[in-house]
Amino acid sequence: MNININRKKIKGFVLIIGCGRLGASLANSLSDKDMEVTIIDRNKDAFRKLSESFGGLTLVGDATDIDTLKEAQISDCGVVVCVTNNDNTNVMSAQLAKELFHVEQVISRLYDPQRECVYKEYGIETICPSVLSAQKIDGILSNAYEGVSL
Ligand code: AMP
Repeated sequence: MNININRKKIKGFVLIIGCGRLGASLANSLSDKDMEVTIIDRNKDAFRKLSESFGGLTLVGDATDIDTLKEAQISDCGVVVCVTNNDNTNVMSAQLAKELFHVEQVISRLYDPQRECVYKEYGIETICPSVLSAQKIDGILSNAYEGVSL
């Protein structure tokens, strides 16, 4: 996965929404780089996926709840990454981050690539696992079969 976050350019901290496999892994790696991270999940057990060295803040709450986002001090963060396992939730919290709280960079996971245009309209960057996987597999197969006539 290649989420392009430049530490030097970030004002404030990174807010990650969803502490699943992707969110926790990103939170661990940003925290290891000494970046300030806050991570939200509605299920407190999800934070077990964070490493022992994780130095950020955790907050139990719903990603679409404005009070939860305020409690996470979303207005002070430079980047929001929406990686719950639900496209509707991600689009809603990404829109709130962009439109209501004026966060500079908002990145969202999107399972359904056909909905990408909705995000583009709001200036939200998207990461689509199925598209990335297809491109990667295509690349592997192209290399493996280079010069071979099928
Ligand atoms: P994964 O599918 O492993 O990337 O996990 C997704 C994470 O998103 C899980 O830990 C869920 O508890 C979390 N999640 C799903 N919906 C919400 C929501 N509305 N607010 C906060 N966290 C959520």
